[in-house]
Amino acid sequence: MEYDACRRALVPHPMTVSCHFTRRTFLRLMTVAGLATRARPGVARAQTPATIPAFSYPLGLPDRPLGDGLLVRHGYATENTWYNPGWWHTGEDWYLPGGETGGLGVYAAAAGEVVFAGSEYPGRVVIIAHADGLYSMYGHLDYALAIAPGQVVERGQLLGTVLTRDDGRAPSHLHFEIRTFFTTSEVNGDAPRYGVGCGYECPPGPGYWPIDAPEHPSVLGWRNPTHVINRRAWGEVVAEGATVIVAEAAAASTTLWSVPADVAGAEPLGELTLTAGDRYPIIAVDTGEEDGTGTSAEAYRVWYRIVLPEDAEGWVQAAVPDAFDTGSDGRPSSVRFAFVPEVMAAAT
Ligand SMILES: [Zn+2]
Repeated sequence: MEYDACRRALVPHPMTVSCHFTRRTFLRLMTVAGLATRARPGVARAQTPATIPAFSYPLGLPDRPLGDGLLVRHGYATENTWYNPGWWHTGEDWYLPGGETGGLGVYAAAAGEVVFAGSEYPGRVVIIAHADGLYSMYGHLDYALAIAPGQVVERGQLLGTVLTRDDGRAPSHLHFEIRTFFTTSEVNGDAPRYGVGCGYECPPGPGYWPIDAPEHPSVLGWRNPTHVINRRAWGEVVAEGATVIVAEAAAASTTLWSVPADVAGAEPLGELTLTAGDRYPIIAVDTGEEDGTGTSAEAYRVWYRIVLPEDAEGWVQAAVPDAFDTGSDGRPSSVRFAFVPEVMAAAT
């Protein structure tokens, strides 16, 4: 059976049996893989104001797009079984896999005003107030902060660096939250229900919420940070000229889809070979809800519609649930990025 017809016949389990490519399909995909523009490491591409997203990831390696090469080891509303079993994480823990995360730059996820900088978390906590009643929170920063309360910051501005830790409780990492409150009564205000590492009138907040609590963290006002960033990066319409790159953590290939794989009628178009640094124009983003009440990394949903050579298009999965760490029910707690927006820290 030819490739396309074979793929259609295999729904709903298209990945369990391999279909052979026709020569034409094979050549088309080889062309796709071979002609992607290679982003040279260390060379920042010129960015125009229109193509720079309003939101971007909070951690970056030097001279690399924000988020590239990094792992969300414990995602939003996932269980961290080795640190705090029985609790949902209310943010994302960002790590440099196989390396020392301490010392990496932490950057404002969006423009806003610094409303808090302090607290032994361990390390400093910074909280920024943004438009639309959103707050971003950055935990476990070094004590040499680059900013102070009252300061207005731009997206991608350096806030500080990740604290290098030797306290034996957890390896160096960034704890990153996006939420709709600075303090709110039952979380970290005048009547905190659970005092996990924080308590009465403590703006950093607990960082965790019990799995057996009646409300999901989203009901209290926490948000899925990766969903917020991707939904609001360019807004409803992606700016013409915006690009994404294949992240260093990407698998060797990914399936190209006619629409995101979980949308009715989705059809696989073929396999796209991935090479870290390959650059593609992006024309649409499809993400899960910011206040979704799913749990585990399986609740992460970020898809990009990218343009391939010869004007072909397809949807690719940008944030991939990963079983690097799992919850006690075996579901993945980690998130690996296959693609990241090509956006750098602010030049300051
Ligand atoms: Zn955390």
